[in-house]
Amino acid sequence: MAVERTLSIIKPDATRRNLTGQINARLEEAGLGIVAQRRIRLSLDQARQFYAVHQSRAFFNDLCEFMVSGPVVVQVLEGEDAIAANREVMGATNPANAAEGTIRQAFGESIEANSVHGSDSAENAATEIGFFFAECDIVG
Ligand code: ADP
Ligand code: MG
Repeated sequence: MAVERTLSIIKPDATRRNLTGQINARLEEAGLGIVAQRRIRLSLDQARQFYAVHQSRAFFNDLCEFMVSGPVVVQVLEGEDAIAANREVMGATNPANAAEGTIRQAFGESIEANSVHGSDSAENAATEIGFFFAECDIVG
């Protein structure tokens, strides 16, 4: 076990329903510290760049349109095994398959509008954190 940082995004479906506080409470209850946080509106270019790994997927254009449809909250989470711990509290990509007690099970609307993003590896976490935050923005 090691202290890690991971990038989390509270997606537009969740900000629209005023769920930022409830999602943050679940992250903190899971032992994840919110060490940087900013509410922003993504540009379409930013969304396409952030999700570039999915650009050949059928859902790519819809996903990018969804991510710019309202404000998002970008945040850095820190804690023991933060990358895996966040993926666990997020739940499966499709809320219909997400385990009881997970954020996506509680709040997700659909496989696309699934309330939260979380980095899936140490390498991607570093890249994704750098996409939104400078080191001086992160206060552990
Ligand atoms: P995760 O967010 O669980 O890591 P992926 O990286 O596979 O999932 O996909 C990124 C995002 O793309 C998902 O969170 C979801 O918003 C959207 N997405 C994934 N699969 C689909 C799909 N089959 N149809 C529509 N949107 C999808
Ligand atoms: Mg992913």
